[in-house]
Amino acid sequence: MENRRVRLRFAPSPTGGLHMGGVRTALFSYLFAKKHNGDFILRIEDTDQTRYVNGAEEYIIEALKWCGIEPNEGVGFGDGKFAPYRQSERKELGIYAKYAQQLIDSGHAYYAFDTAEELDAMRKRLEAAKVAAPQYNSVSRQHMRNSLTLSEDEVKKLMDAGTPYVVRLKVPRNEEIRFHDIIRGWVVVNSTQVDDKVLLKSDGMPTYHLAHIVDDIEMEVSHAVRGEEWLPSAPSHILIYRYLGKEEVMPKLAHLPLILKPDGNGKLSKRDKSGIPMFPLNWFDERTNESYTGYRESGFFPEAFINMLGMLGWNPGTPQEIFSLYELVEAFTFERVNKSGAKFDPEKTKWFNQQYLRKKSDTELAELFMPILKEKLEENKVSNLKSQDYVEGVCRLVKEKSHFVNEFWESGKYFFIAPTSYDEKVISKKWNENSKTIFQHLMNEFNSLTTWDATTVHTAITNTEVATSAKVDLQLLRVLTSGAAGGPAIHDMLVLIGKEEIVKRIATAIEQLNK
Ligand code: GLU
Repeated sequence: MENRRVRLRFAPSPTGGLHMGGVRTALFSYLFAKKHNGDFILRIEDTDQTRYVNGAEEYIIEALKWCGIEPNEGVGFGDGKFAPYRQSERKELGIYAKYAQQLIDSGHAYYAFDTAEELDAMRKRLEAAKVAAPQYNSVSRQHMRNSLTLSEDEVKKLMDAGTPYVVRLKVPRNEEIRFHDIIRGWVVVNSTQVDDKVLLKSDGMPTYHLAHIVDDIEMEVSHAVRGEEWLPSAPSHILIYRYLGKEEVMPKLAHLPLILKPDGNGKLSKRDKSGIPMFPLNWFDERTNESYTGYRESGFFPEAFINMLGMLGWNPGTPQEIFSLYELVEAFTFERVNKSGAKFDPEKTKWFNQQYLRKKSDTELAELFMPILKEKLEENKVSNLKSQDYVEGVCRLVKEKSHFVNEFWESGKYFFIAPTSYDEKVISKKWNENSKTIFQHLMNEFNSLTTWDATTVHTAITNTEVATSAKVDLQLLRVLTSGAAGGPAIHDMLVLIGKEEIVKRIATAIEQLNK
């Protein structure tokens, strides 16, 4: 089987917005598939109709598109030869029932008629007997109502009467189950730990356990990448493949490590309060009325989000941290995925965005900033729109200290609106009787300049200092012209705002401060 085509599937259940852990699973599958010129498939696992959430499927598709990790086959991305890709539709093909029947016929699965009350009574009985993990298994099934304990006649009678039943996997007693995980190596479990999983539910729907195996076989999936939470079920899955006689085509398994809270204590929750989104796009949960902000809407670049996710549990083995999607494809191997949980780092996440922000040209940044700027100018009733060059200039100056384009307005609004107040701290410390004389002089020096650039601005300052025998306090100059105590290099800022406006601002400031 070494030469089989590399085919990986991302198989989310449409039970809500896709959180970032899910996106990481998709990403790692995508990377491996692309690295090996294989296929990346989107399969929707919607067999649990009670947990179906409207809009979740569309959300998943849109999120993958925004991230730039598009499947080349599957729901929303064009049908390949294995359509349909939604399990509810695949059920209509009769494949799940067929495989379940095969397991029943070969004696590896059985019918169970137990009611919810009977199952509950069983659990209580086992708990009372201090059984550590009360479950329906090779021991407890002997005391339950199933086709192993009932006679053929009784089973037939129940069936004919339309009594609801499920189909369960018949797990052998005390057998060693061994399997290989690409990330974790060999895993050995005794079958005593493994329960008789339900394969078909009483409504005829397959459970995840049966459905994903049937689909992985039918869709010729070569590698199955999924979250660590599925590791405990893997032994059951191994048995199912074995009993179906499909061990040969079983996908190689890779269970990804958990994403942990920033302090390393437990699994990252979708309600995490670090201020960094947990979802790629905004998501509103109509069942709980909760809204979650997305990376997209918070101003993250998809490249930064993907880069950050790529480093969450994987490392290249070199100090390189910035990877384009293409570079991730080149560098990715499962051998470099950690076994232990990966701590989510909110600050680092912002840092990644900053790196991508700095890489963008001023023209690109201006394009992203423009819609925000227009809105803000409107809000502030400013009608004179600045030129493209001017806005690009602002982007060039404010980007160094920003993580997001949506911070540009807050840190650079004085490029568009003259200040109406002046940083209190700086004023109370530095504005004195001499200041007025000095700045009036500077203002006149500025006014007489015929060219306006960093050199002439500098000369005007020096001339003022000579003429007044005093220092021009540059921070004070900054506050007078921008209102703020900090910002980009002062000469660059003055030059961009322009001579006339600067002279006007200094005049206004002197007047305001001398009231
Ligand atoms: N439907 C499963 C889930 O959403 C998929 C697990 C798998 O990839 O096999 O967790």
